[in-house]
Amino acid sequence: MSNRPRYSIVAPIYNEEGNIQKLYDRITAVMDSMGEDWELVTVNDGSRDRSFELLSDLSAKDSRIKIVNFARNFGHQLAVTAGLHHTAGDAVIIIDADLQDPPELILEMVERWKAGYHVVYAVRQERKGESWFKLFTAKLFYRIIYRITDVDIPLDTGDFRLMDRKVVNALNSMPEHNRFIRGLTSWIGFKQTGVTYVREAREWGETKYPLKKMVRFAMDAVTGFSYFPLQIMVYFAFILGVIAVLAIPVIAFLRVVLGVEFLGGQATTVILLLLLSSFQLFFLFVMGQYVARIYDEARRRPLYIVADTVGFEEQRKHIELKAEQPVPAPEA
Ligand code: UDP
Ligand code: MG
Repeated sequence: MSNRPRYSIVAPIYNEEGNIQKLYDRITAVMDSMGEDWELVTVNDGSRDRSFELLSDLSAKDSRIKIVNFARNFGHQLAVTAGLHHTAGDAVIIIDADLQDPPELILEMVERWKAGYHVVYAVRQERKGESWFKLFTAKLFYRIIYRITDVDIPLDTGDFRLMDRKVVNALNSMPEHNRFIRGLTSWIGFKQTGVTYVREAREWGETKYPLKKMVRFAMDAVTGFSYFPLQIMVYFAFILGVIAVLAIPVIAFLRVVLGVEFLGGQATTVILLLLLSSFQLFFLFVMGQYVARIYDEARRRPLYIVADTVGFEEQRKHIELKAEQPVPAPEA
């Protein structure tokens, strides 16, 4: 067995003791059927049950099973991130440990990858065994995200996906803290495609995504990929301003020509209030533009991602040669 496996599978694990053996069995069956080297990188995200012991037993028996053991619970997205940092394969597959993502789909993903795609994401056609609340909020979530974010994040797609090594390297070069991985993958680019599947019910246990975590997750998605919330106030500023300006001649006309006292003599105050609010909203919007730019700089995302370069071979050789030359000693 060579040192570098062809495939790496990343599975985040938080209190999944009842799923681990089945996960191992099904992944082993699928991956062995392809006849190439693979590794399973599990990330134990501060589980309080026996997950870590079970994983350690598996790892002791099968050296392809690896564990990154977190010091506490850091959350699903960071668990996946750590997993990606520890992979070595040419293609990397992210999968949930509760078997809601069928490992058998990996075969189809690999086929697409071999056909030249860099990202193959799994699209949920149907979701089984989940509450109407989860189904409804998830549907709504994906549609809102789709609408307001600046990158095209495919609908009904989770983190279950295959990524080429190039994509994983790009992802690993993004140090931002509030990570929405599927957004980052879309942002990176490359050739992407989807395969559909039916999302089964959880094999064992219950969801580790209570409402609070879901809301936080949604906020990360929106703030990570959209300035829309910082931009909407400019519309309100505009509307209030227009109302205020139009109201002046209308009220003057009512009062001077028709002798009607509109707003009981408070018209001036009301108009001033509208105008001031409009100004304030407008300058909040302006501040928002600065905040957005600060945020952009602070995230330290790479400026661009290069898929390939062509025709630089000579130049690169030249630069490498130069770099190898000894540094001249400083003149005395
Ligand atoms: N998970 C994790 N840390 C967390 C929450 C979840 O590593 O804080 C893992 C969990 O063990 C599972 C995956 O992330 O493998 C997806 O979680 P879950 O199935 O609870 O989410 P749902 O499918 O309900 O959205
Ligand atoms: Mg699940």
